[in-house]
Amino acid sequence: MSNKIIIAIDGTSSTGKSTLAKRLAKRLKYLYIDSGAMYRALTFYAIEKNYISKSHFNKTELIKDLPNISIDFQYNIENNKYEVHLNNNSVEKYIRSLKVSDLVSEIATVDELRKEMVKVQHFLGSNKGVIMDGRDIGTVVFPNAELKFYLDASIELRANRRYKELVEANYEISFDDVLSNISLRDKQDINRKNSPLKKASDSIVILTDNFTLDQLEEKLLSYINPLISKK
Ligand code: C5P
Repeated sequence: MSNKIIIAIDGTSSTGKSTLAKRLAKRLKYLYIDSGAMYRALTFYAIEKNYISKSHFNKTELIKDLPNISIDFQYNIENNKYEVHLNNNSVEKYIRSLKVSDLVSEIATVDELRKEMVKVQHFLGSNKGVIMDGRDIGTVVFPNAELKFYLDASIELRANRRYKELVEANYEISFDDVLSNISLRDKQDINRKNSPLKKASDSIVILTDNFTLDQLEEKLLSYINPLISKK
Protein backbone atom coordinates (compact mmCIF):
# COMPACT_ATOMS: atom_id res chain seq x y z
CA MET A 1 0.00 0.00 0.00
CA SER A 2 1.20 3.51 -0.69
CA ASN A 3 2.05 5.84 2.13
CA LYS A 4 1.63 9.53 1.32
CA ILE A 5 4.32 11.82 2.64
CA ILE A 6 5.42 15.46 2.46
CA ILE A 7 8.55 16.13 0.44
CA ALA A 8 10.31 19.47 0.98
CA ILE A 9 12.81 20.74 -1.57
CA ASP A 10 14.75 23.84 -0.60
CA GLY A 11 17.85 25.47 -2.00
CA THR A 12 19.38 28.47 -3.69
CA SER A 13 17.76 30.08 -6.75
CA SER A 14 17.60 28.20 -10.06
CA THR A 15 19.06 24.89 -8.93
CA GLY A 16 16.36 23.00 -10.83
CA LYS A 17 14.16 22.53 -7.75
CA SER A 18 10.89 23.25 -9.49
CA THR A 19 11.67 21.26 -12.66
CA LEU A 20 12.57 18.26 -10.53
CA ALA A 21 9.67 18.69 -8.15
CA LYS A 22 7.24 18.85 -11.10
CA ARG A 23 8.66 15.67 -12.62
CA LEU A 24 8.52 13.82 -9.32
CA ALA A 25 4.97 14.99 -8.60
CA LYS A 26 3.84 13.68 -11.97
CA ARG A 27 5.51 10.36 -11.39
CA LEU A 28 4.19 9.94 -7.84
CA LYS A 29 0.78 11.53 -8.57
CA TYR A 30 1.52 14.08 -5.86
CA LEU A 31 0.47 17.71 -5.69
CA TYR A 32 3.30 20.07 -6.64
CA ILE A 33 3.40 23.46 -4.95
CA ASP A 34 5.81 26.16 -6.10
CA SER A 35 5.97 28.31 -2.97
CA GLY A 36 8.18 30.86 -4.74
CA ALA A 37 5.27 31.57 -7.10
CA MET A 38 3.28 32.77 -4.08
CA TYR A 39 5.94 35.33 -3.12
CA ARG A 40 6.20 36.33 -6.77
CA ALA A 41 2.41 36.83 -6.99
CA LEU A 42 2.55 39.03 -3.88
CA THR A 43 5.38 41.01 -5.45
CA PHE A 44 3.41 41.45 -8.67
CA TYR A 45 0.51 42.81 -6.59
CA ALA A 46 2.80 45.16 -4.65
CA ILE A 47 4.32 46.53 -7.88
CA GLU A 48 0.89 47.04 -9.46
CA LYS A 49 -0.29 48.93 -6.36
CA ASN A 50 2.93 50.93 -6.30
CA TYR A 51 3.85 49.73 -2.81
CA ILE A 52 7.30 48.77 -4.03
CA SER A 53 9.84 49.79 -6.67
CA LYS A 54 13.63 49.82 -6.83
CA SER A 55 13.64 53.12 -4.95
CA HIS A 56 10.90 52.67 -2.34
CA PHE A 57 9.01 50.10 -0.29
CA ASN A 58 5.86 51.10 1.54
CA LYS A 59 5.76 48.05 3.79
CA THR A 60 3.13 49.43 6.16
CA GLU A 61 0.59 50.03 3.38
CA LEU A 62 1.19 46.59 1.90
CA ILE A 63 0.67 44.94 5.30
CA LYS A 64 -2.52 46.96 5.80
CA ASP A 65 -3.76 45.71 2.43
CA LEU A 66 -3.15 42.04 3.29
CA PRO A 67 -6.83 41.24 4.04
CA ASN A 68 -7.59 42.13 0.40
CA ILE A 69 -5.01 39.76 -1.04
CA SER A 70 -5.76 36.13 -1.65
CA ILE A 71 -3.19 33.78 -3.11
CA ASP A 72 -3.89 30.17 -3.99
CA PHE A 73 -3.43 27.57 -6.70
CA GLN A 74 -6.13 26.60 -9.19
CA TYR A 75 -6.12 23.87 -11.78
CA ASN A 76 -6.04 24.91 -15.44
CA ILE A 77 -7.62 22.14 -17.53
CA GLU A 78 -6.23 23.63 -20.75
CA ASN A 79 -2.59 23.07 -19.86
CA ASN A 80 -3.04 20.48 -17.12
CA LYS A 81 -1.27 22.66 -14.55
CA TYR A 82 -1.89 24.17 -11.14
CA GLU A 83 -1.39 27.88 -11.54
CA VAL A 84 -0.87 30.52 -8.89
CA HIS A 85 -3.84 32.86 -8.58
CA LEU A 86 -3.97 36.33 -7.15
CA ASN A 87 -7.48 37.31 -6.12
CA ASN A 88 -8.86 34.55 -8.35
CA ASN A 89 -6.90 35.51 -11.48
CA SER A 90 -4.01 33.47 -12.83
CA VAL A 91 -0.83 35.55 -12.69
CA GLU A 92 1.55 32.82 -13.89
CA LYS A 93 2.48 34.74 -17.01
CA TYR A 94 3.45 37.91 -15.14
CA ILE A 95 5.52 36.64 -12.26
CA ARG A 96 8.76 35.45 -13.91
CA SER A 97 9.81 38.87 -15.25
CA LEU A 98 13.05 40.43 -14.06
CA LYS A 99 11.01 43.28 -12.57
CA VAL A 100 9.34 40.81 -10.20
CA SER A 101 12.55 38.78 -9.67
CA ASP A 102 14.43 41.94 -8.67
CA LEU A 103 11.96 42.80 -5.88
CA VAL A 104 10.66 39.44 -4.67
CA SER A 105 13.36 38.82 -2.07
CA GLU A 106 12.64 42.19 -0.48
CA ILE A 107 8.94 41.32 -0.27
CA ALA A 108 9.87 37.91 1.16
CA THR A 109 11.58 39.53 4.18
CA VAL A 110 8.27 40.71 5.63
CA ASP A 111 7.16 38.44 8.46
CA GLU A 112 3.46 39.39 8.28
CA LEU A 113 3.36 38.33 4.61
CA ARG A 114 5.28 35.11 5.26
CA LYS A 115 2.85 34.12 8.01
CA GLU A 116 -0.07 34.38 5.57
CA MET A 117 1.77 32.37 2.91
CA VAL A 118 2.64 29.67 5.44
CA LYS A 119 -1.05 29.35 6.39
CA VAL A 120 -1.92 28.61 2.74
CA GLN A 121 1.03 26.20 2.47
CA HIS A 122 -0.09 24.30 5.60
CA PHE A 123 -3.57 23.97 4.16
CA LEU A 124 -2.20 22.66 0.86
CA GLY A 125 -0.11 20.08 2.69
CA SER A 126 -2.82 18.98 5.09
CA ASN A 127 -3.61 15.77 3.19
CA LYS A 128 0.06 14.96 2.54
CA GLY A 129 0.98 13.65 -0.91
CA VAL A 130 2.67 17.00 -1.60
CA ILE A 131 6.01 18.12 -2.98
CA MET A 132 6.70 21.73 -2.13
CA ASP A 133 9.78 23.67 -3.17
CA GLY A 134 11.08 26.94 -1.77
CA ARG A 135 13.53 28.31 0.76
CA ASP A 136 12.02 27.50 4.17
CA ILE A 137 9.89 24.43 3.48
CA GLY A 138 11.96 21.93 5.45
CA THR A 139 12.93 24.39 8.19
CA VAL A 140 9.79 26.43 8.88
CA VAL A 141 6.76 25.34 6.84
CA PHE A 142 7.01 21.57 7.29
CA PRO A 143 9.75 20.92 9.85
CA ASN A 144 8.29 17.40 10.25
CA ALA A 145 8.28 16.59 6.54
CA GLU A 146 9.16 12.95 6.03
CA LEU A 147 11.77 13.84 3.43
CA LYS A 148 13.79 17.00 2.93
CA PHE A 149 16.17 17.81 0.11
CA TYR A 150 18.50 20.77 -0.14
CA LEU A 151 19.71 21.48 -3.68
CA ASP A 152 22.63 23.64 -4.68
CA ALA A 153 24.84 24.22 -7.73
CA SER A 154 27.52 26.66 -8.92
CA ILE A 155 26.27 30.18 -9.64
CA GLU A 156 27.41 29.99 -13.30
CA LEU A 157 25.39 26.87 -13.97
CA ARG A 158 22.33 28.26 -12.24
CA ALA A 159 22.49 31.56 -14.11
CA ASN A 160 22.95 29.73 -17.42
CA ARG A 161 19.97 27.51 -16.75
CA ARG A 162 17.75 30.43 -15.76
CA TYR A 163 18.91 32.54 -18.71
CA LYS A 164 18.00 29.76 -21.17
CA GLU A 165 14.58 29.27 -19.58
CA LEU A 166 13.80 32.97 -19.77
CA VAL A 167 14.98 33.31 -23.38
CA GLU A 168 12.85 30.28 -24.32
CA ALA A 169 9.89 31.97 -22.65
CA ASN A 170 10.57 35.06 -24.83
CA TYR A 171 11.81 37.38 -22.09
CA GLU A 172 14.28 39.98 -23.35
CA ILE A 173 17.06 39.69 -20.86
CA SER A 174 20.86 39.62 -20.67
CA PHE A 175 22.92 36.87 -19.08
CA ASP A 176 24.61 39.41 -16.79
CA ASP A 177 21.26 40.65 -15.48
CA VAL A 178 20.20 37.09 -14.68
CA LEU A 179 23.52 36.38 -12.96
CA SER A 180 23.36 39.46 -10.77
CA ASN A 181 19.70 38.86 -9.92
CA ILE A 182 20.41 35.32 -8.76
CA SER A 183 23.40 36.27 -6.69
CA LEU A 184 21.55 39.18 -5.06
CA ARG A 185 18.52 37.00 -4.26
CA ASP A 186 20.73 34.29 -2.73
CA LYS A 187 22.34 36.90 -0.48
CA GLN A 188 19.01 38.37 0.58
CA ASP A 189 17.41 34.94 1.13
CA ILE A 190 20.31 33.63 3.21
CA ASN A 191 20.80 36.73 5.32
CA ARG A 192 17.23 37.77 6.13
CA LYS A 193 16.04 37.58 9.74
CA ASN A 194 12.73 35.79 9.10
CA SER A 195 12.85 32.22 7.79
CA PRO A 196 16.23 32.54 6.05
CA LEU A 197 17.34 29.99 3.50
CA LYS A 198 19.36 27.36 5.33
CA LYS A 199 19.84 23.62 5.27
CA ALA A 200 17.56 21.73 7.64
CA SER A 201 19.80 19.56 9.79
CA ASP A 202 17.97 16.45 8.55
CA SER A 203 18.01 17.38 4.87
CA ILE A 204 19.70 15.41 2.12
CA VAL A 205 22.08 17.79 0.37
CA ILE A 206 22.50 17.34 -3.38
CA LEU A 207 24.86 19.32 -5.60
CA THR A 208 23.24 19.25 -9.02
CA ASP A 209 26.17 20.46 -11.23
CA ASN A 210 27.26 17.14 -12.63
CA PHE A 211 23.92 15.42 -13.06
CA THR A 212 21.33 15.40 -15.81
CA LEU A 213 17.69 15.93 -14.85
CA ASP A 214 17.00 12.23 -15.44
CA GLN A 215 19.83 11.26 -13.10
CA LEU A 216 18.63 13.70 -10.45
CA GLU A 217 15.10 12.38 -10.68
CA GLU A 218 16.33 8.83 -10.12
CA LYS A 219 18.55 9.97 -7.27
CA LEU A 220 15.69 11.66 -5.43
CA LEU A 221 13.40 8.69 -6.13
CA SER A 222 15.95 6.39 -4.54
CA TYR A 223 15.23 8.20 -1.23
CA ILE A 224 11.50 8.60 -1.81
CA ASN A 225 10.51 5.10 -2.94
CA PRO A 226 11.53 3.20 0.19
CA LEU A 227 9.51 5.63 2.31
CA ILE A 228 6.31 5.57 0.29
CA SER A 229 6.21 1.80 -0.11
CA LYS A 230 6.80 1.17 3.58
CA LYS A 231 3.16 0.67 4.58
O1 C5P B 1 11.58 29.84 -6.12
P1 C5P B 1 11.70 31.22 -6.72
O2 C5P B 1 13.08 31.53 -7.21
O3 C5P B 1 10.65 31.50 -7.74
O4 C5P B 1 11.41 32.18 -5.48
C1 C5P B 1 11.42 33.58 -5.62
C2 C5P B 1 11.80 34.22 -4.30
O5 C5P B 1 10.74 34.02 -3.35
C3 C5P B 1 13.04 33.70 -3.62
O6 C5P B 1 14.23 34.30 -4.11
C4 C5P B 1 12.77 34.06 -2.17
O7 C5P B 1 13.10 35.40 -1.91
C5 C5P B 1 11.26 33.93 -2.04
N1 C5P B 1 10.87 32.66 -1.45
C6 C5P B 1 10.87 32.57 -0.07
N2 C5P B 1 10.41 31.44 0.55
C7 C5P B 1 9.98 30.42 -0.17
C8 C5P B 1 9.97 30.47 -1.59
C9 C5P B 1 10.46 31.61 -2.19
O8 C5P B 1 11.28 33.50 0.62
N3 C5P B 1 9.50 29.33 0.46
